[in-house]
Amino acid sequence: MNQIKVFAPATVANVSCGYDAMGFALSELGDDMVFTKTATKAIRITEIHGADLPFEADKNVVGVVARLMLEDSQVDFGLDIKIHKNFKPGSGLGSSAASAAGTAYAVNQLLESKYDNLQLTKFAMQGEVTACGSAIADNVAACIYGGFILVRSYDPLDIVSIPTPSELVATIIHPQIEIKTEEARKVVPKSIPVKTAIAQWANVGGLISGLYARDFDLIGRSLIDYVAEPERKLLIPHFTNVKEAAMNAGALGVGISGSGPSIFALSKGMFAAKQVAEAMNTIYEKSGIDYIIYVSNISKTGARLI
Ligand code: ADP
Repeated sequence: MNQIKVFAPATVANVSCGYDAMGFALSELGDDMVFTKTATKAIRITEIHGADLPFEADKNVVGVVARLMLEDSQVDFGLDIKIHKNFKPGSGLGSSAASAAGTAYAVNQLLESKYDNLQLTKFAMQGEVTACGSAIADNVAACIYGGFILVRSYDPLDIVSIPTPSELVATIIHPQIEIKTEEARKVVPKSIPVKTAIAQWANVGGLISGLYARDFDLIGRSLIDYVAEPERKLLIPHFTNVKEAAMNAGALGVGISGSGPSIFALSKGMFAAKQVAEAMNTIYEKSGIDYIIYVSNISKTGARLI
């Protein structure tokens, strides 16, 4: 194999109650990348479409992750890489994570699957350091493992795959406004009362039980965030109206995707997810703010060859 093309899914991190600990991958939205082996050891980003990102390999998460993996595996080839971004950086849908995790997956394919998913997640997390300054795992792990994941521990890193009922469909609205991840992290309280923590971890248990048991009502009842959403929703125009309209249209639950501004809803079945999309559209069409709405199944495989 000298050339491969991969699809790296967009991901929804946090999933309401699972702040900084849960995520899931979308199957119909993500980046495409082409990796070609070259005889020199250089890593070159030759094309970038769909976003204004650095071509310098050490500034682009793609180059950073590829470099780490080629050095670690001590191979004597280099890479030419083409990047097609199909959704914008800074959307809260894991743009940098799709690049980082997609690269980890692709380079591993060229290395004949030398590394397991946990090792790939660790490489991809170094890309997140380049993108946002911290080695965040939830988006990259969801992109690599597919489906729902839980980051049970960072030290040592422990990623748990959670079964994903195939009827679950995500609806996402991405208002085209910028919220800096740094700003969104600043508004989250530094400490919370034990009572709030209990409510939050009880919902995480409920969400995971609901996913295992395919209990859609339980999934919906558990999609509540007492920690980040009360503050972060103030940064997202019309969040409360979108949430209310989506719930009235039949969503199981609604929350902020990653650090926003995207808002996600989960529904049972494609029909309900499209009704939710209509409801979100009704709120935003009069807002004067540009937006994109996506309806997508949950990707059970994560990054894949195409
Ligand atoms: P997202 O949550 O969509 O990943 P972030 O704000 O966390 O958005 O990360 C985007 C940042 O990462 C931007 O500053 C961008 O320049 C940087 N970056 C570097 N390489 C890439 C890449 N290949 N894809 C996306 N973002 C990248």
